[in-house]
Amino acid sequence: MQVLKFGGTSVGNAQAFVQVAEIVQAARQQDADTVVVTSAMSGVTNQLFAAARAAATGDHDAYLRARDELLAKHQMVAGQLVTDGTERAALGRLLEERLQGFERLCRSIAILGELTARGLDVVAGMGERLAAPLLAAVLRARGLPAEAVDAADLIVTDNNFGAAEPLMEASRDKSRNKLLPLLARGILPVCTGYVGATVEGIPTTLGRGASDYSATILGACLDAREVQIWTDVDGILTADPRVVPQARTLPELSYGETAELAYFGAKVLHPNAVHPVIDKGISLRILNTFNPKHPGTRVVKDAHLTDGTVKAISAIKGLCMIAVEGRGMMGVPGIAARTFAAAARQKANVLMISQASSEQSICFVIPQGDRAKVVPALEAEFHAELTRRLVDQVSAMENIVIVAVVGYGMRGIPGIAAKVFGALGEAAINVIAVAQGSSEANISLVVAQGDADEAVRQIHTAFQLDKLPVTAGAPAR
Ligand code: ADP
Ligand code: ASP
Ligand code: MG
Repeated sequence: MQVLKFGGTSVGNAQAFVQVAEIVQAARQQDADTVVVTSAMSGVTNQLFAAARAAATGDHDAYLRARDELLAKHQMVAGQLVTDGTERAALGRLLEERLQGFERLCRSIAILGELTARGLDVVAGMGERLAAPLLAAVLRARGLPAEAVDAADLIVTDNNFGAAEPLMEASRDKSRNKLLPLLARGILPVCTGYVGATVEGIPTTLGRGASDYSATILGACLDAREVQIWTDVDGILTADPRVVPQARTLPELSYGETAELAYFGAKVLHPNAVHPVIDKGISLRILNTFNPKHPGTRVVKDAHLTDGTVKAISAIKGLCMIAVEGRGMMGVPGIAARTFAAAARQKANVLMISQASSEQSICFVIPQGDRAKVVPALEAEFHAELTRRLVDQVSAMENIVIVAVVGYGMRGIPGIAAKVFGALGEAAINVIAVAQGSSEANISLVVAQGDADEAVRQIHTAFQLDKLPVTAGAPAR
């Protein structure tokens, strides 16, 4: 059993669909038990978000325009690749029906003047609900017995709309009940990525970029041998190739390193996608739809622990650093615990913590959007200390980035941090804060947004990630 997931660019236009069809055809010859997961066509999810938000401001034109554009975009592919007239007409009706549903939803959002997280999830998931039947029809047109499946019938989630988490037991039951009989009949299921539904059947989404997560969830539920993530680059590279054009493919990476990179902004894989496959040891590969012969990256249990020191660098943008500061804090017990409890009550995602040894400040990094709720919460928490001047202030520094330097081989090797700081120092890049994760597979630095790309490039060069062949089993350097 294998699960193949195709990202937005992999289903971005008719040519890409042809590539996907060829990959699926070849994969199915290797293993008849193949399940496909698809993202929305590239740009569609953003368009849906924009239309829903515009609708909430009473803008009817925006969603009507989006409806027409989305219909044209999907029909263009169908027109080129679904040659059978009856098939194409049936698909056309289905696309129109779904887009009418989208229009109705947006109209009610516009009338209510309110966009709830629950409503947004229904709209946001529409892209995958258009792409899956389209891809299934394209595959059928090429002789594959494909059938679209809505993941609302497969993945059961909690009701945390916008970032729902799967309930694995229930998802296992549902997905097996639905998919195994299809596979037994020789059918190739083409499932929607990104979406699921609560126990009550209310549609949810698993978070932006989460079609990867859908694929690994299904892989785990189906006890798949392998999950393949087909994207638009040759696997996981030593850095984002858009930032570092010389970045190289990492042939092998451990689950842990992959998770760290994904968590700290390597968009190539959703941060949660590794979790479902780790325990089961399911093979995970990242491959390029547009260069299918390239072996890409294989994510394995313990990718040669001594294989290099620093393996890759990622950066996560759009963050804010909060500091609770005051000389009087020294010795007041429980400040750190109260700080993080207050942040947790606001459901802020704390990405990094850094405490200066002087104990005069506690710093932590959260997404910029959480600032507005976290700062007042901390001011309320420390009201007494602020009044008595034990805490001087709760400050927030916006537009910062965490740069994460990742690699298990760093463990116990002295001088890595010094080299990182040396590289940044030479480029006159100011490091605002530092943290070393408990895994020791990661050194994280906070820099200003404007310095982030250059910081990644400098560290990449300092460790010669562009020059040395990063091959599996290479000796430590
Ligand atoms: P998909 O639509 O296939 O899910 P994404 O756009 O979500 O693709 O992810 C692929 C992109 O991730 C690449 O085009 C690349 O710009 C970006 N990326 C960021 N960091 C890395 C990295 N370390 N290795 C590979 N790609 C990366
Ligand atoms: N289409 C969704 C998004 O753009 C999910 C995905 O592509 O993985 O976020
Ligand atoms: Mg993606």
